[in-house]
Amino acid sequence: MKNLVITVSFGFVKAFLIRGNKNRFILVDTGLRGSKKKFLKVFEQNNIDPKSIDLIVITHNHTDHVGGLEEMAKFCQAEVLSSFYEGDLLKKGVTSPVVPNTKMAKIMFKFMKKPTSIKYEVDHVVSKTFDLKNFSVAGKVIMSPGHTEGSISVLLDNGEAIVGDMITGKKQGKEILAANPFVAKDISLIKKSLTQLIEAGGEIFYNAHGLACEKESIKKYIES
Ligand SMILES: [Zn+2]
Repeated sequence: MKNLVITVSFGFVKAFLIRGNKNRFILVDTGLRGSKKKFLKVFEQNNIDPKSIDLIVITHNHTDHVGGLEEMAKFCQAEVLSSFYEGDLLKKGVTSPVVPNTKMAKIMFKFMKKPTSIKYEVDHVVSKTFDLKNFSVAGKVIMSPGHTEGSISVLLDNGEAIVGDMITGKKQGKEILAANPFVAKDISLIKKSLTQLIEAGGEIFYNAHGLACEKESIKKYIES
């Protein structure tokens, strides 16, 4: 399998680039505000012309995924796509509900300053599977609610899947295990969405706050 996904790590959160045909690209998520500098470095390392990024897909409207949106969309002159649900909130400048899932997250969020919401009007909103072939990428956007109500994933025909915050991946011994995200609206919905992605051909699951997980570890997580 030829990897088409390039990880852009900001430490705490990741964004992803997808290499399409004819040297065109899709960016998935945009990190926090001020992420442009890091993006520029990754573009340079990978020989990517920012103008060759035709589309920015937003997995969901949490500040660590849309903070850099306005700046990057302008800079790359790219169109932006989200689900209808998240796009509607973004348009209103309202962050998608942050529902802490672990004990640790509950404590953390209690003391954390509320992040400033981002306001942006996206170009495309989708409420069902959306083929990315018009953006030079063999793959599709798939509805995958659970982390937030309107979360979406990108699944490439080669089996690479970018799933936003649906799960996190943790190293345990030699294995990378899929685990619950810190924030989740509905874990059973997450498991349903992951099952759909596996059925649709997902092999490797890139997520924004942890290590990428293989299908087998996702299956174990679904059964847990
Ligand atoms: Zn999130």
